[in-house]
Amino acid sequence: MKQDLTQCSLQGVFDFVYAQNQEPHNSLLILSEKEVKHIIGLAGGFWHHNGDPKAPHAVMRSGKHTDGFVSLPEALKYVAINNLFAATLAKKIHRSSYHNQRIDWVIGSDHAAGTFSYAVADELRKCNFLWRGIKQDFTEKAMVNGEEIQKWSRHVIKKEEFVLQVEELCSTNLTIGRVYEGVNNAHPDYTISYVPIVGMAVNRTGRDLFHGRKVVSLLNIKFKEWDVRKREECSLCKGGSEPLEDVKKSAATWAKLNCH
Ligand SMILES: [Zn+2]
Repeated sequence: MKQDLTQCSLQGVFDFVYAQNQEPHNSLLILSEKEVKHIIGLAGGFWHHNGDPKAPHAVMRSGKHTDGFVSLPEALKYVAINNLFAATLAKKIHRSSYHNQRIDWVIGSDHAAGTFSYAVADELRKCNFLWRGIKQDFTEKAMVNGEEIQKWSRHVIKKEEFVLQVEELCSTNLTIGRVYEGVNNAHPDYTISYVPIVGMAVNRTGRDLFHGRKVVSLLNIKFKEWDVRKREECSLCKGGSEPLEDVKKSAATWAKLNCH
């Protein structure tokens, strides 16, 4: 029987991963959504508004206000957790109905999906003989005319090769769409082929398809969101709560959000 990781401390999770690594052939490693959520919480990456009207709330990159936020880099900075989540996602992809599909490239976005997509590729390499020669890289963030893009320029993806996109967390399809465009724009002479799935550690988009490809994720989660740019009234602002921007990029803001 696999240990129930929802009962574990952070050190317990590290010890579990260490033990798994000693006996990889015994691995029973498919984490439940509850376990994934618990581990992100242990690492300090999970915030949910506590109901106190004075407690601040978060603004997402899309500009929407929300009563919940997952800052996955808080968890992925622990190599053991990065690799544990990657191993589980690789197993889920392997167990999906696409295990006979060739995967030549695993591609993530800059920044946090760079190391995560590498770890997923490394685990996929061990799952299937078709994937032993798998390659991995991530796009680079750039600004063009004030607009953020994800640029692919260092490698050529051959016409006959298949690409699997892997992201750490998606709250909209913005970043994963930018990676898709970046890869396609770098190959104007032919159409890039994609595996019919996308891998995601946390999916908070509320959707299970991206460009017709099925999302395989470790945790599906939805929070309340208010699209204030479209004049939707935010209940938390209305109650006197302060909206905080850059909660993912600024450690100080993340701490302020979590001190209530
Ligand atoms: Zn608000």
